[in-house]
Amino acid sequence: MKKIILTGDRPTGNLHIGHYVGSIVNRLKLQNTEFDKFYIMIADTQALTDNAGNVDKVKNNIIQVAIDYLSAGINPEKVNIFIQSQVPELAEMTMYFMNLVTVARLGRNPTVKDEIKQRSFSNSIPVGFFCYPISQASDILAFGTNLVPVGEDQLPMIEQTREIARSFNNTYGKEIFAMPEPLLPENNICRRLCGLDGGLKMSKSAGNCIYLKDDEKTVKEKIMSAYTDPNHIRVTDPGKVEGNVVFSYLDAFATDESFKKHLPEYKNLDELKAHYRKGGLGDVKIKLFLNNVLQEILTPIREKRKELEKNIDAIYEMLFENGKKARKVAQNTLQKMKEAMGIDYAKFLKK
Ligand code: ATP
Ligand code: MG
Repeated sequence: MKKIILTGDRPTGNLHIGHYVGSIVNRLKLQNTEFDKFYIMIADTQALTDNAGNVDKVKNNIIQVAIDYLSAGINPEKVNIFIQSQVPELAEMTMYFMNLVTVARLGRNPTVKDEIKQRSFSNSIPVGFFCYPISQASDILAFGTNLVPVGEDQLPMIEQTREIARSFNNTYGKEIFAMPEPLLPENNICRRLCGLDGGLKMSKSAGNCIYLKDDEKTVKEKIMSAYTDPNHIRVTDPGKVEGNVVFSYLDAFATDESFKKHLPEYKNLDELKAHYRKGGLGDVKIKLFLNNVLQEILTPIREKRKELEKNIDAIYEMLFENGKKARKVAQNTLQKMKEAMGIDYAKFLKK
């Protein structure tokens, strides 16, 4: 079976360290494996579903997200990075898939439910937003994808994509679509990295992020203001590690090597946690350690970004060229869908 990988991000802001551990680390690993095709889609059409009046934000963040990918180490020689709206066939596929999904089923999607609450839409949910899981199914299925590296919040989308694929195959009697599988990070904490404010998920829309592009000073300031244990007031107080943002980030980023280098009085994270729980370990110390660990990862990304920013035109060119290639693949899939449905009317002309 072919190995076709597709994943993406909404250009609603720069990428943050949640994206890094949730999906970019897996993308970096995957790009060094054997595969047939690897696509990364900048989901501008999807971003507009909750930003209709904010087109500039979406438009300007396309290049930002592309620079984030490249500075984090995504190799454009191996991976096709393209812009969603440059493949209009995805919208047409969505129209056909919409007929296979009920309103009730869409309403049950737990991620969409959370996002509706987070955006305070209450009774004014844009139809496009409500339906974005269907358009996401098109993004995945158009390319014959069978592997989707994502964070945990995307599992309901992939489940729904599989249902749509199955439903299309059954309704039209042809096995057009493969069943895509999600690829989650191995480390549980990285599947949904919490926000700096202790919020359940770091997310661009919630504004609780450390961005890959943040400068050294900003990263440090954000870490120093991160939510820890509100009852850990004096250094001598016993502290809670669960729900403590600094420990969550250390779980995601610190290795035994980090301790050797930056905090040699502890062997590993278990020892540090035990001390914090017992009391006698201050928040400033753990925050400064986290700062050292994160700066080590973010400094090279920041430096690469500076280089890339010198030639923005080349990045746009790469995106547009890739969009054309991606479009050909989607056109081919759409044609197969139409044949299966019996609406490939062009055949009448040939008679
Ligand atoms: P928005 O708030 O606009 O939805 P976002 O921060 O949720 O933005 P997306 O572009 O929606 O980012 O997500 C892109 C990818 O990154 C998805 O695979 C998603 O699962 C993953 N991801 C996003 N946030 C996190 C996080 N906090 N932890 C782990 N993975 C994440
Ligand atoms: Mg999101």
